[in-house]
Amino acid sequence: MRQNIVAGNWKMNKTLQEGIELAKEVNSKVGAITPKCKVVLGTPFVHITEVVKTVDASKISVAAQNCADKVSGAYTGEVSASMVKSTGAQYVILGHSERRAYYGETNAILKEKTDLALTNELKPIFCIGEVLSERESNIHFDIVKQQIEESLFHLSAGDFSKIVLAYEPVWAIGTGKTASSDQAQEMHAFIRQLIVSKYGEEVANNISILYGGSCNAANAKELFANPDVDGGLIGGASLKADDFLAIITAF
Ligand code: PEP
Repeated sequence: MRQNIVAGNWKMNKTLQEGIELAKEVNSKVGAITPKCKVVLGTPFVHITEVVKTVDASKISVAAQNCADKVSGAYTGEVSASMVKSTGAQYVILGHSERRAYYGETNAILKEKTDLALTNELKPIFCIGEVLSERESNIHFDIVKQQIEESLFHLSAGDFSKIVLAYEPVWAIGTGKTASSDQAQEMHAFIRQLIVSKYGEEVANNISILYGGSCNAANAKELFANPDVDGGLIGGASLKADDFLAIITAF
């Protein structure tokens, strides 16, 4: 059966010291409960090693927010999947809309990144989602389908099963505008059906599909109650331990 997951995406926030403090606070608060979901902290690269040391690995895993599309070599400023793996991170967020929009990451580049993440035994949290104009033009299903097909559908069923998907309508990220529970469920069911058509029921039923986009303590319960919403990728609300905990306990 698929896993429920609440993953934080700290983005480019927190100094190393602030990040360690936040990880400590999340760790002690999660340690005091029995979460009904896997908890993941998506930290900046420079925080990963310390955060891995800080948290109880039986309850909290750590994710990078990106990795390079190249194996190694003269790519100044890049961080490879094998380097990420060597820090103790278990996950890597790939295809976030901010990476697609500001750093030109195409479906083809994300295919390379996915392959390298999997080769290095990192689990991709693979983000997909449409911008507002695409939803208004009623092409949001086509866009999400294309993102998945072009970056992921070359994978074997075994490799595809290691992916966590995160549906993040771009118009809902950091805007305070959440997709309605019905809009989230409709897209998640569409994605799961797409996976059924390519890999069959068993693979599709075991894939976790997270929702991301202004998910918070007030709306998490309703979003997570949907049959095809298996948790959340959380930006702003992951930067305060209490807010993040309230989302974790929405399960
Ligand atoms: C995100 O960055 O993945 C995200 C969902 O951000 P926010 O929760 O702030 O909308």
